[in-house]
Amino acid sequence: MIESRLNQILQEIRQTEAKSGRKEGSVTLMAVSKLHPYDEMQEAYMAGQRLFGENHVQEVETKIPLKRPEGMSIHLIGHLQTNKVGKIVPLVDSIDSVDSLRLLQKIEAHASASAKKMEILFEYNTSGEASKSGFCSEDSLFEALDKVGEMEHVIPRGLMTVGPLGGGEGRIRQAFRFLWLLKERCQTRYPSLDFSTLSMGMSGDYKIAIEEGSTMVRIGSAIFGPRNYQASV
Ligand SMILES: *Cc1c(COP(=O)(O)O)cnc(C)c1O
Repeated sequence: MIESRLNQILQEIRQTEAKSGRKEGSVTLMAVSKLHPYDEMQEAYMAGQRLFGENHVQEVETKIPLKRPEGMSIHLIGHLQTNKVGKIVPLVDSIDSVDSLRLLQKIEAHASASAKKMEILFEYNTSGEASKSGFCSEDSLFEALDKVGEMEHVIPRGLMTVGPLGGGEGRIRQAFRFLWLLKERCQTRYPSLDFSTLSMGMSGDYKIAIEEGSTMVRIGSAIFGPRNYQASV
């Protein structure tokens, strides 16, 4: 089941790349496994999936063993509270939801203390929805980017956003287009930093995201099915 859904999604990603003039293989698939048991992650791994996304620090701690199969990579994609940075830094390969300078500084401090290099993405709130996390203004993002160059343990890789929930295709496309343009402005302003990853698109809107330049789509329910918010994992 998981294997056939994965293959279906991968095929659709490749088709959408081709249709929108994107280079084949330029979009990476992240399997978002939050609120699904580790067994299902292993099933996806056996089918060839390597990159997984998780939302909650506690779930990563309790669900995923420290000794992981070769090449399995875990990114934190959910909002991270500063008091949980120390817990998560040793457990993940990237924090894709950096949304404040304060959080960035905490990550640098903990990565430094554990002599680890931590890859990060900067999350931007492109929808203006108050419920969404992410930097809300270019100025606040630039303030963080001004500082990140001096940090030795965080390695910026690009930007991330969650598209608007409602509003139809037009608003979704607009949000993704905004992030792509923001990435271009960042790259011009900070030529020595890496902005090659543009993480945008989920089960419901990943094709639009690919058309608008996404390099990483985060797919949960279309691979693993509906999430059980009651179950404790
Ligand atoms: C849950 C989640 C996803 C995956 O959502 P689906 O609609 O199930 O594909 C992607 N990104 C973030 C930040 C999420 O929290």
